[in-house]
Amino acid sequence: MRAMQLTEPGGAFRLVDLPKPRPAAGEVLLAVHACGVCRTDLHVVDGDIVDGRYPVVPGHQIVGVVEEARGGDLETGQRVGVPWLGHTCGLCGFCLAGQENLCDSAEFTGYHRQGGFAEYAVADARFCFPIPESYPDVQAAPLLCAGLIGYRALGMVGDAGQLGFYGFGNAAHILAQIAVWEGREVYAFTRPGDVAGQRFARGLGAVWTGDASVRPPCALDAAIIFAPDGALVPSALKHVRKGGVVVCAGIHMSDIPSFPYADLWGERIIRSVANLTREDGLRLLEVAPRVPIRTEVQVYPLERTADALDDLREGRVEGGAVVQVR
Ligand SMILES: [Zn+2]
Ligand SMILES: [Zn+2]
Repeated sequence: MRAMQLTEPGGAFRLVDLPKPRPAAGEVLLAVHACGVCRTDLHVVDGDIVDGRYPVVPGHQIVGVVEEARGGDLETGQRVGVPWLGHTCGLCGFCLAGQENLCDSAEFTGYHRQGGFAEYAVADARFCFPIPESYPDVQAAPLLCAGLIGYRALGMVGDAGQLGFYGFGNAAHILAQIAVWEGREVYAFTRPGDVAGQRFARGLGAVWTGDASVRPPCALDAAIIFAPDGALVPSALKHVRKGGVVVCAGIHMSDIPSFPYADLWGERIIRSVANLTREDGLRLLEVAPRVPIRTEVQVYPLERTADALDDLREGRVEGGAVVQVR
């Protein structure tokens, strides 16, 4: 099969010919239809995060059709999605407490397990989600990480009515639609001078847009930071009211600069969001068609996966980038 393989962290990332994978007991073989491109793929390929198993086929927003099922509840011909969380131990304190996202033995798709930038992929049947019928393959793919981990982050802001988004890319464009549907006001912060990004945010219902350095017209109840820039943390903290929360939604961020304790005072909270649980996935895929969430996508063929990553790195993607395999 054709696959985009990464040799090592920061190493070569190129199209190779690999044997078609075979599912073990409890796994399914998927004919990959599409796979979304996530900023985490960029961190894997660039070597910002280095704890994977190499060589690896990245890609963890897989939409595919079951070609062979060896156990589990899935049937041949069923269309499913595979997210970042690819496997957990099911036995540790975290797993038993409903925090499988924190399992020390977790395996992540396209990092520890071979991912979806390939013609075929194998997945643990218990970590596959049925995809709502109303979504074409390429529109469904961004829901599986950008949407899903974003939805987990949204769960951390309580009933915040005035909500700031820092970085208006793939996750924010999905989350804005849910937040507006829930009756919240979205304040979208972009890179300085990103007029197109600000227009994109307003088109999706943001009530205010501006550069990240600009003070919004009111104090925010909460902020979610999607951009991997640690300097945004103290900046967002300054714009959040007493008791408000700043949620860091990315897997990697540059160092956070020091800031006066007075900015944290007043029971403000800074927290991260790690990975996802299957419960998060099921909830998002249930709510998506009801909003309904519409994903904006830029589609690339498999052999142009590296171009998709370059476009994401350079901020040239509006919404989500998706690799269409068949
Ligand atoms: Zn566990
Ligand atoms: Zn992701």
